[in-house]
Amino acid sequence: RTVYVNGEYLPEDEAKVSIFDRGFLMADAVYEVTSVLGGKLIDFEGHAVRLKRSLDELDMQEPCTKDELLEIHRKLVELNGIDEGLVYLQVTRGSDGDRDFVFPDPETTKPSIVLFTQNKPGLADSPAAKKGAKIISIEDIRWGRRDIKTVQLLYPSMGKMMAKKAGADDAWMVEDGYVTEGTSNNAYFVKDGVIVTRPLSNDILHGITRKAVLRMAEEAQLKIEERLFTIDEAKEADEAFTTSASAFVMPVVEIDGTALGDGTPGPIAKRLREIYLDESVKAAI
Ligand code: PLP
Repeated sequence: RTVYVNGEYLPEDEAKVSIFDRGFLMADAVYEVTSVLGGKLIDFEGHAVRLKRSLDELDMQEPCTKDELLEIHRKLVELNGIDEGLVYLQVTRGSDGDRDFVFPDPETTKPSIVLFTQNKPGLADSPAAKKGAKIISIEDIRWGRRDIKTVQLLYPSMGKMMAKKAGADDAWMVEDGYVTEGTSNNAYFVKDGVIVTRPLSNDILHGITRKAVLRMAEEAQLKIEERLFTIDEAKEADEAFTTSASAFVMPVVEIDGTALGDGTPGPIAKRLREIYLDESVKAAI
């Protein structure tokens, strides 16, 4: 596999970043994951805009222009022959060759940028989406700026492990009695034809897929309520689902051992998945 590191395309075992890199030492880094379908990038623009916002919020410099970023994405997809898969992008604050809590001088320390691809045949026609996901609920103990897409993924990773141990597929996190989001996705339930999801704030990631799916739901005349909701409300729902750039719309069929509806993917989740994939592939670049 060919990867990209700070201006160079290299075989993955030749790519290097410093052990003093603040991404490695302090999780001082942000990332994006863009899906590839039919060899084209899904919602590149959305990811580029959010990356810029994450960098701005952390006073981090842009490592390159948006056009350069697009060029790197496309070249890696081509070099690695990706038809269906993902492009992972990470920008870190870099390193001045020492460890210090204080940010290094941006005049002399440039950000590091790393990209690599992951080949995922069957990403769109996913068996997991046909089955639907089983969810457990766990406490949300993450930091207070979840709107910034940082690489602090230890707790979400632990959440997935807790789910796996419980025989489930994923976890939804709950704070002060209300669902925030999934470990790597935004959370929704549907009751009496109304789609309910948590409003945007610093408490959740502003999902690229969330934005697109809510727009498509609105265009399809579906009712949407952006409000706080509890896990008990979701358990009593007709159906539920999650959204993310790498799993699109994923039906949820069980929450904390309670089956939703007849325990199979619901009609609205299935329809939104179809619409999302259809429109996103048409708009892919
Ligand atoms: N929430 C969290 C915590 C995430 O990690 C992700 C994606 O990685 C999402 C939501 C979904 O965001 P997007 O649709 O932009 O992938």
